[in-house]
Amino acid sequence: MLEINKAQGIHLYDITGKKYIDLISGISVSNIGHCHPKVVEAIQTQAAQYMHLMVYGEYIQHPQVQLSKLLTENLPPNLNNVYLVNSGTEATEGALKLAKRYTERTEIIGFKKSYHGSTHGALSIIGDEYCDEYFKTNYRPLLPDCRSLEYNDEADLQHITTRTACVIAEVIQAESGINPATPCWLRKLRERCYETGTLLIFDEIQTGFGRTGSLFAFEQYNVVPDILLTAKGMGGGLPIGAFIASQKMMEVFQDNPFLGHITTFGGNPVTSAASLATLKVLLENDYIQQVKSKEQLFHTLLVHPKIKAIRSKGLLMCIELEDAETNMTLIKKCIENGLITDWFLFADNCLRIAPPLIITPDQIKEACQIILNNL
Ligand code: PMP
Repeated sequence: MLEINKAQGIHLYDITGKKYIDLISGISVSNIGHCHPKVVEAIQTQAAQYMHLMVYGEYIQHPQVQLSKLLTENLPPNLNNVYLVNSGTEATEGALKLAKRYTERTEIIGFKKSYHGSTHGALSIIGDEYCDEYFKTNYRPLLPDCRSLEYNDEADLQHITTRTACVIAEVIQAESGINPATPCWLRKLRERCYETGTLLIFDEIQTGFGRTGSLFAFEQYNVVPDILLTAKGMGGGLPIGAFIASQKMMEVFQDNPFLGHITTFGGNPVTSAASLATLKVLLENDYIQQVKSKEQLFHTLLVHPKIKAIRSKGLLMCIELEDAETNMTLIKKCIENGLITDWFLFADNCLRIAPPLIITPDQIKEACQIILNNL
């Protein structure tokens, strides 16, 4: 196992000084690279000013306020209220609670081969039926009244009814080996949720913060959710997440019980400052605009008889190989040759490509050459 000593930009360095290209960004986290100077500076400044103060929103803390303001300025008008948490799975949990309270319903619908986190609520709605619920089985009982539908299947949408509190969907299913929603299905899903008074939650924990070529992937579909989840790339390397909804919805947390959702560290000043700096870097540079051409370059370069398919949405990509064994061997050889990559939770025959968005065309060429040399 590698012991890492330093990380900078798209590179990791082990304790012997060996350099590795990080082709997976710590699973879609280091979107603006490791230790971005603006993020490091924001962390250091905030850490010296104040860190944790209190839990329940007693004090105005400027990093939280500025982050929420900049985020909502870049989102559709209904997504105007941000609840900051510490991770992706917590964003999922908060959204599920919010939907149950707001709709006063209990049924939660997810999709097969979707991943939303590992805590009890999130685990209840991941779509691991394809492997006989391998991830859920030994943790039962889980949440009742959960149901899984086929992704991208219009006929299955009829199972969303006036009993359904919320539907949670990834806009691009990541852990199943990059499976984007079809635009038509996503629109129909939105319509069905309107018809039935069901809240639509988009899990953009992996697709957010520029990964697919827009700040959030839903922007490319013209379909707006009622609740948006973000985490991972949001913190520039520190742990932070959020569920974002309308103020009207979020107000249900204010009474009965009056602290409807509590988190000690959610919106921590230092992680919020890191996130604010990350968002500014993405908005003030053209990394997001470059995503599509970089995606195209990977497609152009990665041609090999052993590659069965390449699926991608922006710099969230996978190379489908014959079987898991071929993939594991390739991953091992890539790491030996200075390239970090891995597989997907629900697709072990697929190689993950999700580099920091700051990767240059020359670095993409170098990375692809290592993959091709080791196939
Ligand atoms: N949703 C999606 C789509 C994810 O990819 C992940 C993490 N892989 C999560 C939720 C959970 O995030 P976390 O590990 O921060 O709890």
